[in-house]
Amino acid sequence: MKDERRIETKCVQGGYTPENGEPRQIPIIQSTTFKYATSEDMGKLFDLEASGYFYSRLQNPTCDYVAAKICELEGGSAAMLLSSGQAANFYAVFNIANAGDHVVASSAIYGGTYNLFAVTMKKMGIEFTFLPPDCTEAELNAAFRPNTKAVFGETIANPALSVLDIEKFANAAHAHGVPLIVDNTFATPVNCRPFEFGADIVTHSTTKYMDGHGAAVGGCIVDSGKFDWLANADKFPGLCTPDDSYHGITYAEKFGLGGAFITKATAQLMRDFGSTPSPQSAFYLNLGLESLHVRMERHCLNGQKVAEFLENHEKISWVNYPSLPSNQYYDLAKKYMPKGTCGVVSFGVKGGRTAAEKVMKALKLIAIETHVADARSCCLHPANATHRQMNEEELIAAGVPSDLIRLSCGLENYQDLIDDLAQALNTI
Ligand SMILES: *Cc1c(COP(=O)(O)O)cnc(C)c1O
Repeated sequence: MKDERRIETKCVQGGYTPENGEPRQIPIIQSTTFKYATSEDMGKLFDLEASGYFYSRLQNPTCDYVAAKICELEGGSAAMLLSSGQAANFYAVFNIANAGDHVVASSAIYGGTYNLFAVTMKKMGIEFTFLPPDCTEAELNAAFRPNTKAVFGETIANPALSVLDIEKFANAAHAHGVPLIVDNTFATPVNCRPFEFGADIVTHSTTKYMDGHGAAVGGCIVDSGKFDWLANADKFPGLCTPDDSYHGITYAEKFGLGGAFITKATAQLMRDFGSTPSPQSAFYLNLGLESLHVRMERHCLNGQKVAEFLENHEKISWVNYPSLPSNQYYDLAKKYMPKGTCGVVSFGVKGGRTAAEKVMKALKLIAIETHVADARSCCLHPANATHRQMNEEELIAAGVPSDLIRLSCGLENYQDLIDDLAQALNTI
């Protein structure tokens, strides 16, 4: 019944249905712990024999209502909230890849995720092979090893704004008996539902459009419930053999294909690492989700209008926005995101780094921030901020030339954004 509802209705009403006399809005259960009458009752929870709440490091009702909404939005079988997008991507990969394992990843991913994979998880003994998202099927297939456990990419990469060919990556993953994990932060389920194209696990930094108001850092993992762990049991012993820390439960058998991945990530990783979201933050996230469908439409309209303005401006050397017909990802964007992509546009100013700095200083409405996907428009000059340590050659190799300005179009009137950019460009 619920799945027949449209995405707009799920944004507003998904995840939580109050009974008679219960709060209309999701209640904030600000409690670390939950009361039980007998030790036997609690023991069943600790053995995963019964479901229920006992300690908010593992699960909290407020967080679960919001996770259930995101699960409905993505069309998944189970979901969990985490304290950040970083935690979501770490847990999603570490839930199935251990020391000695290997993961294939798109090279066009968020810088924080790249560091997590290439530096920190490498220290944990997990190796990553990074491939450009535009690689051929042959190049992609050649990257797999006997110990490969997952494939990872971003629907729309932050900040490269390349569009992932989800079907190409899913086909390669499945041909090698492993799942495709897609970070769907920039597209959101309003514009793209990766499960419909073969992705198996979806992650989010809910800090971005889902929250949408710069109020709370958070993350989410959603399982499609479609990947058959048991058919590839030799690759996924953590899901397909008994867990000694839970009296010998085998997740894929006890919780089925729909529940195994999220139950294991909660029972083991949240228990041991504790990247717990706060109920208060989950409440803010839900307020954002209630208007996600309305906001995404406006973010996309503003992104489109601003990108078209910049493309026709004499002082702009290039514009990167996947919904522009001139963009190399336009066809993929139309296929995977027919309603629009996102509100983030990147562009270069004629006159390079110095000119970019001058334009940004002259902006009045658009603020300089290390943030994207917010109600308020903001911009960043990576060569002076996130990529400050790099020289000109390194910047070009990283795909972040020194004239690049990343602009996140908010929810303001687009003509005001264009006016602000026009006056700033007039100063050079
Ligand atoms: C911001 C971001 C992350 C990291 O999320 P945090 O909530 O900042 O931890 C991961 N992936 C993408 C695509 C992002 O934009």
